[in-house]
Amino acid sequence: MVHFELYRAIRFRQERPPLDFSLVIPCFNEEESLPAFFKTATQVFDAAGLSYELIFIDDGSKDNTFTLLASFAETRRNITVVSFSRNFGKEAALYAGMERATGDYLGLIDADMQQDPQTALNMYHFLTEHEEYDLVAACQEHRHENFALKFFKKTFYRLFNRVGDIDLIADASDFRVMKAHVAHAVLSMPEYFRFSKGLFSWVGFKTYAYPYTPHPRFAGTTKWSFFKLLRYALDGIISFTTSPLRLAAYFGIVAFFASGIYLLSVLYEYCIRGIDVPGFPTIVGLVALFGGLQLSVLGIIGEYLGRAYLEGKHRPLYIARTVIEPKDENERFI
Ligand code: UDP
Ligand code: MG
Repeated sequence: MVHFELYRAIRFRQERPPLDFSLVIPCFNEEESLPAFFKTATQVFDAAGLSYELIFIDDGSKDNTFTLLASFAETRRNITVVSFSRNFGKEAALYAGMERATGDYLGLIDADMQQDPQTALNMYHFLTEHEEYDLVAACQEHRHENFALKFFKKTFYRLFNRVGDIDLIADASDFRVMKAHVAHAVLSMPEYFRFSKGLFSWVGFKTYAYPYTPHPRFAGTTKWSFFKLLRYALDGIISFTTSPLRLAAYFGIVAFFASGIYLLSVLYEYCIRGIDVPGFPTIVGLVALFGGLQLSVLGIIGEYLGRAYLEGKHRPLYIARTVIEPKDENERFI
């Protein structure tokens, strides 16, 4: 495929033979889960007889994640480890991993064993058997989450698909397997605020929603608090639609007509029925109402402006402190 050749030639290390599959694993304080993950993933992919690589991104972990990853790299030649200088977030970690992938197919998977390496392999086989699809996104059938979180996520997808300019596949996780040209397309978007569910929808391509049920976390705790998720959801909406900015215009139109009707009714009371209309509560009420509206609209504009400001700085998405390449087996400090 011409896409694959182009992809490799432009972006990636050409000296290595092409691989069938690259698996990218973002890790943030995952020392408890990683040994089990490494064991399972290598068993599954060795047994499949594929040429593959594992690309671990240590996203500024504070525990022994990096030491563990370095010890994995000692035992095999198909391991890449990129260790960030601090925690840059899962999105940056995915980007760094995708950038280094050399496989014809590329998978993204969490390190906590909620997503099964065997499922990743099944998704890979699905893609190789179905030429018409470019991307397989695992969609959660049952969530091990409380009711409030489930409700929040469902509402988010509904809201996003209503106001957003692209449609997200509901419940599609970041657990994906794709052909190399899809990864290339996603990498061609170097934006700082990355919302990968949206990026994958934006680039298009034929996506298959692969049903799966995530396991409970093997060890450790989720890195997402409710407020972190809320922030992420807002980032997603702001990255992919400008419709909240139109709210100010809608509010303005509604306020214009409402105040027209109100004025007419005051005139009617005063001139026709001769009733004195007491103004104080009305004025206080209206000032408070419009003050609130104006502040919230300003806040929305501020969110967009802030993002435009940060995007304009063109900062790198991550800074790597250490990279362990598969070929030289030595740590290289950069
Ligand atoms: N992760 C990361 N950087 C972060 C937060 C999470 O690389 O800042 C990794 C984490 O180690 C895991 C994956 O992203 O491999 C998913 O994180 P988590 O399990 O906490 O999310 P959840 O499964 O609860 O959505
Ligand atoms: Mg998890």
